[in-house]
Amino acid sequence: MADTDRRIALVTGASRGIGRAIAARLLRDGYFVVGSATSDDGAQRIDADLGDLGGGIVLRVDGDETAEQGIGDLLERFGAPSVLVNNAGITRDNLLMRMTGVQWSSVVEANLSGLYRVTRPLLRAMMRQRFGRIVNLSSVVARMGNPGQTNYAATKAGIEGFTRALAQEVGSRGITVNAVAPGFIDTDMTRDLAEEQRQAMVDRTAVRRMGSVEDVAAAVSFLASDSAGYITGETLHVNGGLYAA
Ligand code: NAP
Repeated sequence: MADTDRRIALVTGASRGIGRAIAARLLRDGYFVVGSATSDDGAQRIDADLGDLGGGIVLRVDGDETAEQGIGDLLERFGAPSVLVNNAGITRDNLLMRMTGVQWSSVVEANLSGLYRVTRPLLRAMMRQRFGRIVNLSSVVARMGNPGQTNYAATKAGIEGFTRALAQEVGSRGITVNAVAPGFIDTDMTRDLAEEQRQAMVDRTAVRRMGSVEDVAAAVSFLASDSAGYITGETLHVNGGLYAA
């Protein structure tokens, strides 16, 4: 168990990109932060990143057994989090006409069923504490759509529906549930795009730049804070004006 008075925050997918920035931000905000990766190497890197006031675990959200193992490890080593950031997510883009069953189901398993596998077992402790903050990572494509991303957009729209429904189930226990929907953010997920596709996206964005991982982390930090206690079931858009939802 973490020997600290700090509130514990779990950030899934904290080895890189947006999750890594969220973990760093929550550490600065005063939480004891546990970050997850899919490999031992990744978990060790998170350990090194977070120092004494955090730790890394292996947690694969795309399977029942691996998720149970990761959550078990979290509870045994650090205790139950009062802040949960469901950030882990993947893309497997293809036009629907060409999309394979594996491309469809791997995205659904990781992005949508993963949300169920991680959130459900961690709710009881938040209910007992009569406090909790759950922040789920959606995407601008949940509302805007994007060719080649029917699987991904469907999971992100699902995450927003899950967020609204769960917010109504647990609000009376002091638990808020919100989503953050980033636009076009500079991470591994978007680095594969051709330069002209990236430029076209930037040209469509009102503030004329890609978002940074810190832009997204700031929104998560706010929704996790005590100041956001009267906001629940919402989706906060962090897209620089790419799309007005
Ligand atoms: P990223 O750089 O590709 O990082 C993905 C993270 O998720 C990594 O830490 C990865 O762990 C973890 N992960 C992958 N598969 C997993 C699984 N099956 N179980 C558990 N963890 C898994 O992604 P990102 O761009 O930071 O995106 C983070 C979140 O923001 C995602 O939910 C994404 O959909 C959303 N988002 C991103 C953008 C964008 O423009 N980048 C826009 C809108 C929404 P390993 O390092 O161990 O592989």
